[in-house]
Amino acid sequence: MEQEERSLNFIEQIVEKDLVEGKNDGRIQTRFPPEPNGYLHIGHVKAICMDFGIAEKYNGVCNLRFDDTNPAKEDTEYVETIERDIAWLGFKWGQIYYASDYFQQLYDLAIRFIKEGKAYVDEQTAEQIAEQKGTPTEPGVASPYRDRPVEENLRLFQAMQNGEIEEGKMVLRAKIDMANPNMHFRDPIMYRIITSHPHHRTGRKWNVYPMYDFAHGQSDYFEGVTHSICTLEFEVHRPLYDYFLDQITGENFAGLSPYGPDYRPKQREFNRLNITYTVMSKRKMLQLVKEGLVAGWDDPRMPTVCGLRRRGYTPQSIRTFMDKIGYTKVEGMIDQGLLEHTIREDLKETAPRICAIFDPVRLVITNYEGSGETIIAANIDGNDELGTREMQFGKELWIERGDFLEQADNKFYRLSPGGREVRLKASYIIQATGCDKDADGNITTVYATYDPDSKSGTEGGNRKTKATINWVECNSALDAEARLYDRLFACENPSAEEGDFRDLLNPDSLIVKNIKVEGSLRSELLAAKRSVSDSGLTSVNEVVNYNHYQLLKQGYFVVDPDTTADRLVLNRTCSLKDNYLK
Ligand code: ATP
Ligand code: MG
Repeated sequence: MEQEERSLNFIEQIVEKDLVEGKNDGRIQTRFPPEPNGYLHIGHVKAICMDFGIAEKYNGVCNLRFDDTNPAKEDTEYVETIERDIAWLGFKWGQIYYASDYFQQLYDLAIRFIKEGKAYVDEQTAEQIAEQKGTPTEPGVASPYRDRPVEENLRLFQAMQNGEIEEGKMVLRAKIDMANPNMHFRDPIMYRIITSHPHHRTGRKWNVYPMYDFAHGQSDYFEGVTHSICTLEFEVHRPLYDYFLDQITGENFAGLSPYGPDYRPKQREFNRLNITYTVMSKRKMLQLVKEGLVAGWDDPRMPTVCGLRRRGYTPQSIRTFMDKIGYTKVEGMIDQGLLEHTIREDLKETAPRICAIFDPVRLVITNYEGSGETIIAANIDGNDELGTREMQFGKELWIERGDFLEQADNKFYRLSPGGREVRLKASYIIQATGCDKDADGNITTVYATYDPDSKSGTEGGNRKTKATINWVECNSALDAEARLYDRLFACENPSAEEGDFRDLLNPDSLIVKNIKVEGSLRSELLAAKRSVSDSGLTSVNEVVNYNHYQLLKQGYFVVDPDTTADRLVLNRTCSLKDNYLK
């Protein structure tokens, strides 16, 4: 696919300016920081393309950091799938880090904050703390525990970590400013107790866990991140990010980074990705999966990376999409049609064409007496580089029911008795002669004669007809299951609607059809036999890329991993019609 030249996005401009000014000795380091509490979705890919893209473009490094500070929700299963999905997108990380690698350092820092009078243990409930926060225009109310002596804070924080305090009974708060117009400064929580779940890496070692605001900036700092890029909702957290760093850098330098007292990571924010007719939240996706409303995280209707992969999206098409939408400081909604447009444009160039019949009726060519004849058809018409395939021809073919009309007016150019010539795709010209019907009047067989001198690729093949129809030879045809996917939600922005988002699901988002496809797809059944043990969803480097096809007149399809040695399953990636208006 052609890559359009584009101008620098605003983050790239910042990076180039920093390089010109010689900041961080020309070092560029980013990180992608997923929380391993769900599968990656296409929103994450926007961040991935930014974080890894900056590192690639400016000879830097992008590390993968699992932001695993909430054991109640996280799991190793998610760590593995996140790695696999990033690798599939074609990005390479430098190191893999975990926020949990820093639990000791962060704990020691918290102790230091307490000793310096910058943190205290609060015994109030979460509700009480929330009530005292105030509003942006009214100052908050100080906790009665705010001025506890340092010794008491140290003892209680230690007791929290020792497991002596029940979950929810105490938190460690930063002592900053209860009147600050930025609500995040009103004594934010630094640590909470979680004893109900072991941590997927550190087990039962810790009973206290750092909050995002305290963990994220320090983790960036320990690793030497230069550009900490995230989404716009963190913009209001940035002063707090800087505040915590100020306490350990510059004149407060604590020697926790090899880059000296003046080094500080800088947070930058860009707009989140939102797409119409779907949701972009792990919490909601988890709900859909758990309640069986979709077939799993990799259901082809899901906006997850594994769902898109199974739907037939290629890594390149997803990356091209990100390039097209760009990065700004303004939140908005992207038309799902653009995503579909991008994969369609990609597959148009690469997906071999195949005949498939979705609503079959039998056609008998009464004057055909050949046997074992094969037709050579181009994989993509007009593209010699992509080669040809063999189609079995014969006396009995499946054609689309809608391609025959017993009585037609002169605007119908396809099959109808009465002398009209129609070309069978890539082969002969035929003329319908009649049909059989069952007791209810349904057509059961169509009869036709063919012209042996009209075969495509021969001299007679140049004869023009007004219509060309698809066909599949009956004896060699394969039965296949076509899964026709559509948008998961019936409304444009399910997150903005009142009520339960689950009531907004599109009831027709999956339609299953039994179809007939060309025997040339038999190779897919043989391949399925070989890959039966690795469905493509097992481990990082074992992602199997399934083949893409255009089923003529029907759309782009990909072979689904449910395919077995005797059953072909095809997912519709997108239809042929492009509804996206540029
Ligand atoms: P969710 O809201 O779906 O739970 P999250 O933001 O909690 O997502 P994280 O694992 O914390 O998920 O996200 C990792 C990174 O991906 C963060 O830097 C976050 O800003 C970014 N990210 C998450 N969702 C989007 C999105 N829709 N568009 C762009 N970036 C996103
Ligand atoms: Mg998050």
